[in-house]
Amino acid sequence: MNWDALIEPLARLCLGAPRRAEPLRRHTTLRVGGPAALFYKTHDLEEFARISQWAHQNGVPVFIMGHGSNLLVSDRGVPALVIYNACRQMRVGAETYAETGVAFQELFLKTAQAGLSGLEFAVGIPGTLGGALVSNAGAYRSNIADLLLEIDLVSEGVRQRVPPDWMQFSYRDSRLRRPNPPPTSLLAVRLRLTPDCRRAILGRAREFQRQRILKQPPESSAGSFFKNVYDRALAERLPNLPAPMREAGVVPAGYLIEACGLKGYAVGGACVSRKHANFLINRGWATASDFHALARHIERAVYETYGVQLEREVLRVGDWGEPENVP
Ligand SMILES: Cc1cc2nc3c(=O)[nH]c(=O)nc-3n(C[C@H](O)[C@H](O)[C@H](O)COP(=O)(O)OP(=O)(O)OC[C@H]3O[C@@H](n4cnc5c(N)ncnc54)[C@H](O)[C@@H]3O)c2cc1C
Repeated sequence: MNWDALIEPLARLCLGAPRRAEPLRRHTTLRVGGPAALFYKTHDLEEFARISQWAHQNGVPVFIMGHGSNLLVSDRGVPALVIYNACRQMRVGAETYAETGVAFQELFLKTAQAGLSGLEFAVGIPGTLGGALVSNAGAYRSNIADLLLEIDLVSEGVRQRVPPDWMQFSYRDSRLRRPNPPPTSLLAVRLRLTPDCRRAILGRAREFQRQRILKQPPESSAGSFFKNVYDRALAERLPNLPAPMREAGVVPAGYLIEACGLKGYAVGGACVSRKHANFLINRGWATASDFHALARHIERAVYETYGVQLEREVLRVGDWGEPENVP
């Protein structure tokens, strides 16, 4: 693709200026990632929709970014038009409208201040609402999918309003995370929240935040790197697994990684946190390849010890020189 030649037609649609070769490590919480072929930050929903439709009509590959808190971007970068979504309008009410570039935590704060409950679990999840939708983000047994009424999106070049079912949500998953998803820009949503006393809402959120601070390492990470494992037989044969988890048939990925003796294990600048084994952290000089090699080592060790294939929660994107490239 001739990216230089695309700058001018793209710029005609945009309120600001698209850029070539923006280093994506500036925009990811792992602090790794090479350049975007083309990069544009949009603050305007209609512009976001317009660019998405133009890209589809012209066969330009697009990658949408929120806060980059669930991404492992290749050192070689992303051969696509990367649209950084900063569309942040919202209208708070029992039916709340929000554009998908809103920070998930800000959405919680604004709705909590209005005495609306439902988003307490979002405290401490650092991404945008758009990223939360794609991975059905959640914590403490709540997920964003449970609150949705409707989504405004552009899919395969067509602007439409769809019901939540369209996303085919499951645990930390939606159709947009699966292989060959329809090219889709999530623009805005309507959410249903429940009126409650402000003090009670903030109290619950504070408790969740306290638990997070106790568990999570402060270094650069992308949160939980692997998904927890739902396997009742495995849960029953593991010694020391807390009873509620055994009963629910859930094995935390961090439990398996720690049991393989991998806390503190490092490849280059990427390291398994000593505080929480499912957090892979950047010691300051990591590359994306370090993280990928570390993740592979963990996957192999857990498979050899427990016969379990860990599934990644963090999305690998860009040019990895391998067949499973995304996008
Ligand atoms: C310290 C820490 C703690 C975390 N804790 C949790 C947790 O408790 N629970 C949890 O679920 N996650 C957690 N995460 C992971 C992450 O924050 C969430 O998955 C978050 O919702 C990702 O949002 P983002 O804006 O950063 O998305 P990004 O990482 O920028 O993107 C993620 C995916 O979403 C797609 N995407 C983003 N916006 C759009 C859009 N508008 N339209 C179409 N596609 C889009 C991207 O293309 C990409 O495929 C944590 C991360 C960190 C760093």
